[in-house]
Amino acid sequence: MTTEHFDVVVVGAGLSGIGAGYHLQTLSPDRSYVILEGRPALGGTWDLFRYPGIRSDSDMYTLGYSFKPWTEAKAIADGPSILKYVSETARDYGIDRHIRFKHHVKRAAWSTAEAHWVVDADGPDGPVSYTCNFLFMCSGYYNYARGHTPEWPGTDQFAGRIVHPQFWPSDLDYVGKKVVVIGSGATAVTLVPAMAETAAHVTMLQRSPTYVVSRPAEDAGANWLRTKLPAKLAYSLIRWRNVLFGMFFFNMARKRPGKIKDRLIGMVREELGPDYDVAKHFTPKYNPWDQRLCLVPDADLFDSLRAGKASVVTDTIAHFTPTGIALVSGEELAADIVVTATGLELQLLSDVAFSIDGMPVDLSDTFNYKGMMYSDVPNMASSFGYTNASWTLKSDLTCAYVCRLLNTMKKRGLRQATPRVGATMLVPAPFLDFSSGYVTRAMAKFPKQGSKTPWRVHQNYARDLLALRYGSVDDGMEFSNRVPVKAKGEAIPA
Ligand SMILES: Cc1cc2nc3c(=O)[nH]c(=O)nc-3n(C[C@H](O)[C@H](O)[C@H](O)COP(=O)(O)OP(=O)(O)OC[C@H]3O[C@@H](n4cnc5c(N)ncnc54)[C@H](O)[C@@H]3O)c2cc1C
Repeated sequence: MTTEHFDVVVVGAGLSGIGAGYHLQTLSPDRSYVILEGRPALGGTWDLFRYPGIRSDSDMYTLGYSFKPWTEAKAIADGPSILKYVSETARDYGIDRHIRFKHHVKRAAWSTAEAHWVVDADGPDGPVSYTCNFLFMCSGYYNYARGHTPEWPGTDQFAGRIVHPQFWPSDLDYVGKKVVVIGSGATAVTLVPAMAETAAHVTMLQRSPTYVVSRPAEDAGANWLRTKLPAKLAYSLIRWRNVLFGMFFFNMARKRPGKIKDRLIGMVREELGPDYDVAKHFTPKYNPWDQRLCLVPDADLFDSLRAGKASVVTDTIAHFTPTGIALVSGEELAADIVVTATGLELQLLSDVAFSIDGMPVDLSDTFNYKGMMYSDVPNMASSFGYTNASWTLKSDLTCAYVCRLLNTMKKRGLRQATPRVGATMLVPAPFLDFSSGYVTRAMAKFPKQGSKTPWRVHQNYARDLLALRYGSVDDGMEFSNRVPVKAKGEAIPA
């Protein structure tokens, strides 16, 4: 077994891991780093998901990196274009040379005496170990091996095919077939219009409705501005415009939920006309932004509903039959193919087994620090995006903050940065304030957030920007573990 040392080990080569590489080599250029990626390819989510129509549901001016302008015409972009953008970033900045593929990290053990982590991974040729002073988890937020699939009676009798969008079979032929998509989230509203183009009919079967809002795929104002201004300036202005609009809309939804609800449902009515049962199929019981809104580009879902190529059924599954799905209402939906767009299985830090000086760490016992670190866990951060805005906005801030911490430790000759709650009285609250099933199912395994800064998880980019870029690095943080001095008085490099 080999043990190589790097100043920083980054786990994961998705949007966050590639962003981490860029920030490390730009803001902490004297630090060595490696990116350990479990899969044989980079891109994470944007490489894994291959279902028809796969696309972003937030705009690329905020889902793109702060340092690399998004230059394609579509603001709501398809999966392959996003993967290309991430791959180009890795190649253009030489980040790809730091990636070790097929290295799945299993364990990470912190030693205070050595001031390093020992990171164990399954490599392509067997187990490998690395040591690093700082561990940066960019491993995403869900289980790559398994999606969430509820158990329904009778699935074994169903004569057709059942597929989960996370594992889309490349040989699945749905041309002229009857398809039922179970679910009402972002994946379902993407799949339905895409499959309806060639399927005989697609039914979206949902237990309860979600807020669905249509936006143009191309942002005309942004495209115009890009012809007038240098790429970076235009990108930055459009990014800020979109950030501010997103924050304004979110705050309005929180302050006046009734008004925003009426407006969102009114927009669906305008799309589908007075005869459509919008109350039943598109009127959620919860308030806007209690769960993520579903964005559809250029009203594509509504187009396929209007054209009769697709339909929505709001009901509960009783059981599968050999030819389809029997519903509690007594209706039966005929299907050749059933797609279970029932969601992700959230997973914290890829289930890596952490320990500190030989003692196992249960992260659900910790408080989250600034949305990225964990109380009493030294020299470890993770990238976790916003629930009400694009992931990369927070990921970029987190990467830059990790570099601030690394640079502070170096300047002070200290090797360890540990978030400590100390005497602060905190009222614990769930890490994410979202009512979606996939979130509530997982929250017990996640750290808590506290009632006060820096232990609160703010879903607010402008606030985080000020706090993380310009705020103190000392609040709630213990810097310790002085770089040992050799006998002759020569410091050992950190
Ligand atoms: C279908 C879909 C659409 C989405 N659309 C949007 C959107 O429009 N806007 C938005 O803001 N967010 C969206 N998201 C959320 C999305 O996941 C993030 O935007 C972003 O892609 C996350 O990037 P990441 O690098 O943090 O995580 P990921 O993309 O999940 O990448 C994590 C990487 O870490 C690797 N990894 C995990 N565990 C280990 C381990 N133990 N050892 C080694 N490697 C490991 C994985 O193989 C993967 O390559 C979407 C998610 C999905 C599933």
